Amino acid sequence: TLRSMFEQTAAKYPNKEGLVDLRLGTRWTFQEWDVEVNRLANALKTSGVGKGDKVSTILFNTAEFATALFACTKLGAVFNPINFRLTSKEIEFILKDADPKVVLFEKAVADRMEPLVSVLSDVELWSIDEHDLAYAVHYYDQLRDAPIVRPSCDLDETDPYAIMYTSGTTGLPKGVVHSHRDMVDQSLIMTACLQLNPEDRGLTTAPIFHCAELHCAFFPRVMIGSTNVLLHHFDAPSVIETIKQEQITTLFAAPTMWNMMLQEDFSQEDFQTLRKGLYGGAPMAPALTLRLHEAIGVQLLQAYGMTEMGPAITALMEDEQVSKAGSAGRALLNHEIRVVRTNEHGPSEPAAICKPGERGEIIVRGPSMMEEYYNRPEATEEALYKGWYHTGDIGSLDDEGYLWVSDRVKDMIISGGENIYSREVEDTLFEHPLVLDAAVIGEPDEIWGERVVAFIVKQDDSLNEQTLDEFCTSSNRLARYKRPRRYEFVDELPRNASGKLQKFKLRETFNLVSE
Ligand code: AMP
Ligand code: MG
Repeated sequence: TLRSMFEQTAAKYPNKEGLVDLRLGTRWTFQEWDVEVNRLANALKTSGVGKGDKVSTILFNTAEFATALFACTKLGAVFNPINFRLTSKEIEFILKDADPKVVLFEKAVADRMEPLVSVLSDVELWSIDEHDLAYAVHYYDQLRDAPIVRPSCDLDETDPYAIMYTSGTTGLPKGVVHSHRDMVDQSLIMTACLQLNPEDRGLTTAPIFHCAELHCAFFPRVMIGSTNVLLHHFDAPSVIETIKQEQITTLFAAPTMWNMMLQEDFSQEDFQTLRKGLYGGAPMAPALTLRLHEAIGVQLLQAYGMTEMGPAITALMEDEQVSKAGSAGRALLNHEIRVVRTNEHGPSEPAAICKPGERGEIIVRGPSMMEEYYNRPEATEEALYKGWYHTGDIGSLDDEGYLWVSDRVKDMIISGGENIYSREVEDTLFEHPLVLDAAVIGEPDEIWGERVVAFIVKQDDSLNEQTLDEFCTSSNRLARYKRPRRYEFVDELPRNASGKLQKFKLRETFNLVSE
């Protein structure tokens, strides 16, 4: 279980720096961290939290988050980390669905919690910041008299550890349930993949509530006994500064975060201690990857996956970045990947497996696969059809087992009967040195069904529609039918907390009806 994983590390490395919270200025050894976890667990127990009860957090990267998570494991309670960027309504939906006993939140979300007080009558609200809120108690008041003995509870590896709500770019968010065992397996696999060791020092800057940071970076570090440094939230200059100051050796960041760091003033020396840099959670254009590697002087590795799978299922290693640029890499240990013909897949019929190079839906299987969508048996059955998770991503496998992710099924554009993968067009646009960010969507077209529109963040005004169109045409970069028919220049692109493009927002803003 995650509990035993944490306690084993605390026993092996009691006096080693375990958790650093730069916002509080606290530096806990693993033993001190374990004591704080026990204290919180006992306080939660006093508030009636027991086995199977839920505890929600709406927190940034904080010691309180890292403590609450393991406190839940000590009670057999189910942890429910919520995205701190959500609106009041979205938070309300999740809290009603997950039905927690206690919610921990911080100052930044107080305004969004207040309207919920009347609808969440049975929930205790704990604020981690020192301020007087009529509707909440203070986290540190709750801890004051709590004992620090380890609470006992029956915990099995198959028990649920967390419910994590997927970003839900379409439809309502679904709660992904993961067991303790799922996370121990994912941590083992990532520890091996990143070749972590106890001397490593990891920086958490991507949102810790999201599984990319929490499961691919934070848990593996706890498992191996390396130090976790928490930066409250992502901010490019602070990340670069902290890597130097804290001698950071491992770091995960979403592609868009790496892109923001790239636009800062820095020297390769600033990244000197970095041994394992990881990117993933969204596609990164090969041209951008190349620019990044040249600038920081360190080759990164890529992971691909999704909340439902724990999340990582493939990795593209450092030495494959150039030879397999644009691929998401090969299956991680104990993982299986298939690409199937979407049109032939039906409830009664097994899906036909695509040939190498042929595109279809990516389906996967592995030890960290979710148990279910919370309270959604039909959605679970559909997603885990015949024991394979159906990703909703289109891609292909090559004859060496490398996965190439083309697009989300929903983002593929069909123009004049031809399939256009938005990512291919985006990757091409990124090859232009003055393109800082790019998103491509389809807009309705009377003749062609859909046509390609590109949204561009540009470096300076010398870039315009005509130069970009010439760029796409020259050297046969893009077939005619794939070229954007229209360009919109914008200051920034809408992205969610984990760095994914929110194409539905582009469609809304520009009044482009989807589907
Ligand atoms: P989430 O469950 O929020 O982590 O979203 C998972 C989705 O993000 C996947 O289904 C992919 O569409 C996308 N994604 C994650 N990692 C990658 C990657 N390395 N390359 C391309 N797309 C990715
Ligand atoms: Mg499992």
